[in-house]
Amino acid sequence: KNDRKDPVEMIDFDSRGLAPAIVQDIRTGDVLMLAYMNEESLRRTIEDGRAHFFSRSRQKLWLKGETSENYQYVQRIKYDCDADALLLEAIPAGPACHTGEETCFYRELSETSHHFDEKSGRNRLDYSILDELREIITSRDEKRPDGSYTVELLEAGDEEMAKKLGEEGVELALSAVQNEEEEIYRESADLIYHLLVMLNSQGLSLAGVLSELRERFRQ
Ligand code: AMP
Ligand code: ZN
Ligand code: ZN
Ligand code: ZN
Repeated sequence: KNDRKDPVEMIDFDSRGLAPAIVQDIRTGDVLMLAYMNEESLRRTIEDGRAHFFSRSRQKLWLKGETSENYQYVQRIKYDCDADALLLEAIPAGPACHTGEETCFYRELSETSHHFDEKSGRNRLDYSILDELREIITSRDEKRPDGSYTVELLEAGDEEMAKKLGEEGVELALSAVQNEEEEIYRESADLIYHLLVMLNSQGLSLAGVLSELRERFRQ
């Protein structure tokens, strides 16, 4: 496990002389940041015990925390199967990110609308947004706040509501004929929203629609 020879020589730095280094909080397992190391920064890290990197933007060695004092006290350095990436298990002296966040990975690029289903052992679509939307519509119906488009729809009456639903259906059909991807998504969302409002104004439930789908599935 311990390599007797110079550990820096174990690492296969890329053509620029760099290897990516992930910093992980050894106590919580949180991934804190990603930066690049060259040979010299790895040596300094091993000697000093605090994480040193190579700043690609400034093209110079960088002691993490040199200005912020948010050092990373490195406890263990691991390297991956093909020796081209490093993992620093560390205790952070403070927030890892220059924004003040504990971890640089505080933003979510995309919610996937999937969740892992233990029962089937695979990903399934997460439809919970539909239920949340249904709840909001129910609450608008009960509280009737001013300036709400949903309230406007509900008060327009069943005929007006039905007309609106039909329009959204036609708009979706047109966008499909024209293969306009973004428009199809928007119109589909419009249609589903208006469908939920219509069900509410009819005193009917989304659960009833789901039951109907299930019934057909069983046949
Ligand atoms: P520090 O090393 O914390 O004293 O920060 C010095 C400078 O390094 C900051 O002004 C940022 O430009 C940059 N920096 C600090 N932390 C990070 C990080 N986690 N990822 C990328 N750049 C950083
Ligand atoms: Zn690798
Ligand atoms: Zn950051
Ligand atoms: Zn529309």
